[in-house]
Formats: sequence, C-alpha cells, structure tokens
Amino acid sequence: MSVHADFHVHTTFCDGADTPRAMVEAACRAHLDALGFSGHSFVAFDPAAGMGAERAALYRAEIAALRTEYAGQLPIFCGIEKDVYGEADTSPYDYVIASGHYVPLPGGGFSPVDVSPEIAEHAIRTHFGGDAYRYCAAYYEGLATRILAEARVDIVGHFDLITKFNEGALLFDENDPRYRGAALDALACIAKKCPRFEINTGAISRGWRSAPYPAPFLLKELHALGCHIVLASDSHSAQTLCSGFPAAASLAAACGFTEADVWTDSGFSTIPLG
Ligand SMILES: [Zn+2]
Ligand SMILES: [Zn+2]
Repeated sequence: MSVHADFHVHTTFCDGADTPRAMVEAACRAHLDALGFSGHSFVAFDPAAGMGAERAALYRAEIAALRTEYAGQLPIFCGIEKDVYGEADTSPYDYVIASGHYVPLPGGGFSPVDVSPEIAEHAIRTHFGGDAYRYCAAYYEGLATRILAEARVDIVGHFDLITKFNEGALLFDENDPRYRGAALDALACIAKKCPRFEINTGAISRGWRSAPYPAPFLLKELHALGCHIVLASDSHSAQTLCSGFPAAASLAAACGFTEADVWTDSGFSTIPLG
C-alpha cells in the first residue's frame, strides 16, 4: 500500500487551470484512491488570490454534486487552503490546510513569498534593510502566531514556502543558524497546535524546485516530535495529481517516517508509506 490520493488540489474556482470535473476525470483515469479539493481562501489585501464567500459557496456546491455523481467510483472531498492572513468560515469543509503565503512587513502590509524571486528580493531590500534573515524571521513568526490563532487547522501547508526561490541559496543560506532557529522555533510552536504537516511537491512540478517542502532538517524534527505527514501535490492542473509522490515518500522515509495520513469519510487514517 502506498499513498495514491491527493488532498491539495486547486481548480478554476481559484488559480487552477482546470475545472473540478476535469480534475475528477483525471483522478479516475489515474485510479486515485481519493481526491480532495483545497481552494484558496479569501485574502482581503489580495482579493484575486482566493475565493470570496459567494464563489466559495459555488465551489462547495459543484464539488458536492461531483461527489454524488462519482459515488462508488472515487471518494471526493471538499477542503480549503486557508491562508493564515485571510478570512474564511472553515466550518463547511471536510478539512482545513493552513498556509502562509505572505510575509508581514515591519511598517505594515504584506509581501507574497511565492509569486516571483523579484518580489522576494524587493521585499528583503526595501523592508528588511537587505537582511534576508530578518525577512525569514518575520515569515516564520507571522506564520506561527497566526496558526496558533486559527479556529481549526487539520494540515499545515508547505511550511517553508519561503524557500521557493532559494535553490542554490540565492537569497539566504538555509544552513545558517539564524534561518534554522527561526524555522525550528515556529515548527515547534505550530506542531503543538497541529501535528500534521504536508510534504508538498508543487514547486517541483512548476519548475521552481528540485525537492519538496519541507527541507530534510525540518522533516527530521517533525518526526522527532511525533508529527504525521500528508503527501500533497498542490496541483494547479489535471496533469500533476500525485506528482512527485515517489520522491516525497523516499524523502519521508529518509527522515524517519514509515507512514502517512490520508483523509477518509471517517477523518484521517494512517497508512504505510509503501
Ligand atoms: Zn499554498
Ligand atoms: Zn495550494
């Protein structure tokens, strides 16, 4: 048995390229064991990034209809990727992935960490005096503070998203104690609230990274803390469902994990990594 189910999936209801139906059809063709959607929540200062209340209601209705239509063929679930700086009623969803996509800026406001290397460099230069470690510390402190304040978190999404544009240490050295200290402090805080983190392969399929999130030193710490993992493709198109899962499973095994969690009709279930 190995993980052949994906619970971090976007559609045309937010920033995905394909409709929920196209994603379901792709999941059936690939014989997935289950498919869970995770549309982006609404963020007031970045309204194009997520679903407002009306759109979210349409999203839930469409997925509910597909769930009925495909009953007996493919278990379909309706989750949400809740940005920690956004607002959303998470009660109608099967599960909540809590993610931070922004750095809070010292003078107020936010900068997205995953849009482009240029935006990240600009934020470091303009708002953190060129000190990338202050930028990282602000990201992790903000993430931990906000996740602790969330009403409900079932899965922590792409914990170290701030490394998206940092392959080759272009922005900062991930071995530097200033980076590692900030990341590990946040991880320890967050793990007490939600001991379940994604291994997210989304930046690999989109050509930004060669390795999943989180980095091995973080995964080893998660294992030492007794946390669980969920494999997640963060698919924005029907071609990438479960993309990179064998590599993610190997990475997890190398960091001590033998099992991963999947969502089911009765909540999370833990299965062997394979
Ligand atoms: Zn995300
Ligand atoms: Zn996502």
